[in-house]
Amino acid sequence: MRAAAASAAEEMFAAAAADGVSMTVLSGFRSYDTQVSTYQHWVNVNGQAGADRVSARPGYSEHQTGLALDIGDASGSCNLAECFADTPAGSWAAENAHRFGFIIRYQPGQEAVTGYSPEPWHLRFIGTKDAADMAGSGVKALETFYGLPAAPDYR
Ligand SMILES: [Zn+2]
Repeated sequence: MRAAAASAAEEMFAAAAADGVSMTVLSGFRSYDTQVSTYQHWVNVNGQAGADRVSARPGYSEHQTGLALDIGDASGSCNLAECFADTPAGSWAAENAHRFGFIIRYQPGQEAVTGYSPEPWHLRFIGTKDAADMAGSGVKALETFYGLPAAPDYR
């Protein structure tokens, strides 16, 4: 990951641990080639339309920017599933990630704007100021927060 995002992630994991929450890293930086196989995996499982709701086409993944991170709960339950939001790590991240510059990038009810099903495990680093402003504003999609057009099919 990029240095700023990586050190913010380290601080976030330490703060979670101090609160008794064990968070794991499931995925950080992905190369183009890795994204080719990740996306192809979902095409094989769900077909292309299904894959597009849960995975980015190669060249379009936030994981390729070095600013995105998938987290899990140490229990392993609900990893990469929507119920992750209800695990200790998931609820801690929803409440605290912004303090470290991260946002929950794909939230419920935002699919028409972001193009993705909810992913309570996918964090995107935008810096502490913007993350705090966004959390304070109640806006749920980064596109809306930055005044960008909805991007339901940019992947
Ligand atoms: Zn992700």
